[in-house]
Amino acid sequence: MPEAGLGPRRSIHDAAGGTALPGRLVRAEGADPTGDPSADEAYDGLGATWELYARAFGRDSLDGAGMELVASVHYGQDFANAYWDGEQMVFGDGDGGYFTSFTGAVDVIGHELTHGVVQHTASLIYLAQPGALHESIADCFGAMTAQHQRGQRAEEADWLIGAGLFTDAVQGVALRSMKAPGTAYDDPVLGKDPQPDSMAHYADLPHDAENDNGGVHINSGIPNRAFYLAATGIGGRTEEGAGLLWYDALTRGGLPRDADFATFAAATLAAAEARHGADSAERAAVAEAWRTVGVLEGEA
Ligand SMILES: [Zn+2]
Repeated sequence: MPEAGLGPRRSIHDAAGGTALPGRLVRAEGADPTGDPSADEAYDGLGATWELYARAFGRDSLDGAGMELVASVHYGQDFANAYWDGEQMVFGDGDGGYFTSFTGAVDVIGHELTHGVVQHTASLIYLAQPGALHESIADCFGAMTAQHQRGQRAEEADWLIGAGLFTDAVQGVALRSMKAPGTAYDDPVLGKDPQPDSMAHYADLPHDAENDNGGVHINSGIPNRAFYLAATGIGGRTEEGAGLLWYDALTRGGLPRDADFATFAAATLAAAEARHGADSAERAAVAEAWRTVGVLEGEA
């Protein structure tokens, strides 16, 4: 565990509507709020993510060695996204029409920073099933960042990613639903949430950028739902139940960079067995979750 008293090292920058990164430093670690909601929300969201990894998993920042958390807000014009660029977080202000500012969603911040954790651990390739696992793991730890910050149990959480990012103009509740993939939105302009909720509806897409690298943001719905089912099946705080098993599977070593869903499922089962035993309720809940989404067949 990180030593008591240790905390995150954050620096928040203002790109001021431009695309040069990181931009001007507006809030360093320990500094007072700036009064700019975007900068202060980013500061708090980075902190919430650091807290989840440190308190629940004993991990000091994304690399496990206390790396600085850097973010830039007000990136570009009408930029409706947030992303991890391999070194830092970048936040757009939304486009005002369909998306509000991306700093407002702590689960999205946890999601993006988790790409940095995966980069420093299993380093899953960003294509097809391993890419969808990369995206799903980011959602799992993003959801846990919000649940941990709110003190919620698995059964109390909404299991949505990016709730509140849509403006009132959009017919939808969030970017994704881990509980019911494919139901987050159905809008005349944005279209319908394309996520499948089981292998029966896996989207077999070409492995190129025009097709989301083989549907990495689409097929992530399948392992997302498995995580939701495992977390609620085990019950209690997600980061103490299924979250710990997913963290083990990600970080214990031995997960190949091209792991498919079944390989990752086996790693979570091995983690459950190691922590709780072969006949444990936890292992049974994890097996049932992967069976329900069609990744495991028969009696696992
Ligand atoms: Zn992502």
